Amino acid sequence: MKVTVWNENQHEKSLPKVTELYPGGIHEYIAGFLKADDVEVRTATLDDPECGLTDEVLADTDVLVWWGHMAHDKVPDEVVERVFKYVMSGMGFVALHSAHHSKIFRKLMGTTGNLKWRDGARERIWCIKPNHPIAEGVPETFALEEEEMYGEPFDIADPQEVIFIGWFNGGEVFRSGCTWVKGHGRVFYFQPGHETNPSFRNENVQKIIKNGVKWACPVRKNIVLDCPHVAPLENIEE
Ligand code: ZN
Repeated sequence: MKVTVWNENQHEKSLPKVTELYPGGIHEYIAGFLKADDVEVRTATLDDPECGLTDEVLADTDVLVWWGHMAHDKVPDEVVERVFKYVMSGMGFVALHSAHHSKIFRKLMGTTGNLKWRDGARERIWCIKPNHPIAEGVPETFALEEEEMYGEPFDIADPQEVIFIGWFNGGEVFRSGCTWVKGHGRVFYFQPGHETNPSFRNENVQKIIKNGVKWACPVRKNIVLDCPHVAPLENIEE
């Protein structure tokens, strides 16, 4: 499996806390725990030419993981269109935390991606589909002592499956782990991962992201269905 981890890599330049938590940046940290014997991982960032998401890279990517927050609008539309085309033809897409407002996630959803938010919350995550592949090895519930509150209503396309629900100490709840199939591509959204909170260091969060990447990996990629006029396969003359 070939995974590309994309991070805008902007907070890393101005907030020392981010690189204290995640040396090398969020993308390098995530790439670090995703790497395995059978998982090849590369990273790409906003500052790379074409955001590091050229045809060459995307054609060689089974699953694209996305983290962005302050620079969503800096991602050129042509890059968004290109990523969209690859998801439609089978590439998996895993959107993390504030990727809810990325151009590509909004395009995939066809909605605003809006939600309620507040810094400095405590979250309890509940797994409500224990037999789902993304829930493998994940306990029924676990807590994140510091995470940003994301609250419903979350303006997304109706998920195919909701696997995790988050509860926050302000009383809010959130569909924290959701899946969709968009075109031929599998899409997973997972909510924890605020840049100044240690969530990506949590073993259950890491397990869920690993499982999500595995789940989103296509059986077949580069599927293009055209719209041909065809002759019948059977004799329909009589
Ligand atoms: Zn955040």
